Amino acid sequence: MPSLDPRSDTVDAPEAILHEVFGYPAFRGQQQAIVEQVIGGGDALVLMPTGGGKSLCYQVPAIARHRQGRGVTIVVSPLIALMHDQVGALEEAGVHAAFLNSSLSSDDAQRVEREMMSGRLVLLYAAPERVTTLRFQAQLASLHERGLLSLFAIDEAHCVSQWGHDFREEYLQLSLLHERFADVPRIALTATADDHTRADMIERLSLHDARVFISSFDRPNIRYTLVEKDNPRQQLLRFIRDEHPGEAGVVYCQSRRKVEETAEWLVGQGVAALPYHAGLEAGMRQRHQDRFLREEGLVMVATIAFGMGIDKPDVRFVAHLDLPKNIEGYYQETGRAGRDGAPADAWLTYGLADVVNQRRMIDESPAADEFKRVQRGKLDALLALAEAHDCRRVRLLAYFGEASGPCGNCDNCLTPPRTWDGTEAARKLLSGIYRFWQHGQQRFGAGHLIDVLRGRQTDKVAQYGHHSLSTFGVGADLSETQWRAVLRQLIALGHVVAEGEYGTLGLTESARAVLRGEVSIVLKEAIEPAARRGAAGRTVRAARASAHEADMDTACLGRFQALKRWRADVAREHNLPAYVVFHDATLADMARAAPRSLDDLSGISGVGAKKLDAYGQAIVDLLGAL
Ligand code: ADP
Ligand code: ZN
Repeated sequence: MPSLDPRSDTVDAPEAILHEVFGYPAFRGQQQAIVEQVIGGGDALVLMPTGGGKSLCYQVPAIARHRQGRGVTIVVSPLIALMHDQVGALEEAGVHAAFLNSSLSSDDAQRVEREMMSGRLVLLYAAPERVTTLRFQAQLASLHERGLLSLFAIDEAHCVSQWGHDFREEYLQLSLLHERFADVPRIALTATADDHTRADMIERLSLHDARVFISSFDRPNIRYTLVEKDNPRQQLLRFIRDEHPGEAGVVYCQSRRKVEETAEWLVGQGVAALPYHAGLEAGMRQRHQDRFLREEGLVMVATIAFGMGIDKPDVRFVAHLDLPKNIEGYYQETGRAGRDGAPADAWLTYGLADVVNQRRMIDESPAADEFKRVQRGKLDALLALAEAHDCRRVRLLAYFGEASGPCGNCDNCLTPPRTWDGTEAARKLLSGIYRFWQHGQQRFGAGHLIDVLRGRQTDKVAQYGHHSLSTFGVGADLSETQWRAVLRQLIALGHVVAEGEYGTLGLTESARAVLRGEVSIVLKEAIEPAARRGAAGRTVRAARASAHEADMDTACLGRFQALKRWRADVAREHNLPAYVVFHDATLADMARAAPRSLDDLSGISGVGAKKLDAYGQAIVDLLGAL
């Protein structure tokens, strides 16, 4: 008889399942505590960042409880498009799993239902709209009567909250799972951290008795870099070529048009890139997503329509060519990089125009004033992050209520920016804005202000008689780039606002103290375009191989590449993404260890019993023949 004690050393012990089925040596973070809570029959609410390893938190209990004879785990997931690959990954690991959704033929659906009703199935994935149908509820009731309804896992549980942008009406009805099947444990999982959403999940899913597991939201393997815009396409190209040649990544742009233009341009530069946005025909969108998931080293240029549910683990970078709306959006989007835990980059380029643009979009939106006020506050927080001279991660985590110390893995930690006393410059700039107002009760944008400060005789200067202002020419000592940097930082500090269609500049209450010389201002040194392109610039690094290849010698590299080719063939044959067969990290470990026997191979992380059985001999033979 299988034991009911989750700690005992039997086939249903969580560690045993982790080793045998998934081939992993140890649980990460709170996984073990979560798994034990659920195997023991308790409810759990799991808040873990993307890439934290949420899936194992319900998959291991599902397997353990199935081995105890408790039947089927129902996984509620909104992401129909991903069910196929998730189920494929489980079957690859030797776990009997299936999904029910509208993509199945009725024959296939009936077959899956039979497997479910017999209790043979370990996990069944279904969308919430199916789970709440009368037919499905009757099936659950029948399973329940026979003691074969093991566990409910509610993935992306934040969809129950109207606060976020992923709200799904059907999630609200999931409370009936608890009402009808009160003795069946439930685990709800999400990567959304804020208090509001948490309270909603507990309330709406009746999780009052659930143990809440909150992990740190830090993603230590992601390196944050935010650079000033200066020919952003070239900057992007250099970033991809220098840091991520041939690797998979996502480039976010704000508009559909920019997505298409950028993708086309990258292709012209020899980068394998595809566009993705909501305006593309559905079939093409699907094809592009499939290719991104299945092929290696593709760059997806996308709007934020390309988002939730990209669970490709080996996305090596997320780049932003435009400013996201707020820090929540930035963190969610960058979080799609490096789910496998290997080094990854979050890279963003931004300029004054982005700030003005985002601000204008808020100003012009039809939303209520209170909502706009909140949005502006959030944009300001993002801007402060972009202009920060200190650790980016400390600021990001602080935004989510987590205290931390300098991380050593962001641009500011790695190369602390040089600062200078910008008090005088700030006063000049602020008085520039003030004098415009005094002179003609008018506001102007950044370009004209900088022309006046630098004493340039433009048509506009002549037209408004601005050469007679006391501020005309007082800033000839700084370059245009430097003035733009000063202005951005003063906006980030909240002394200046840029508003309306043209981003006209105005002073805030706090500008007074600066004008009076009561506050001193420390500014980050602007990096001149020329310097940035020079060999000394930190953004220019020697081209490097992928993170996994960095420490490999030629023989090892040869093995790694042979393994990748082998994997590509297997993936194609099984119609699955390559990472479902083995992760890059697992192949890299194999290449390093060069195992000569199945026994050697079984010790490598990511090689479970089923995969060893299915592929072990082929791999040993392949490596032996090299
Ligand atoms: P999430 O759903 O939280 O974003 P996943 O469940 O997709 O994260 O896990 C992210 C990656 O980490 C997956 O590729 C998974 O196989 C891997 N992983 C999870 N837990 C472990 C572990 N204990 N040891 C090794 N790898 C793990
Ligand atoms: Zn840092």
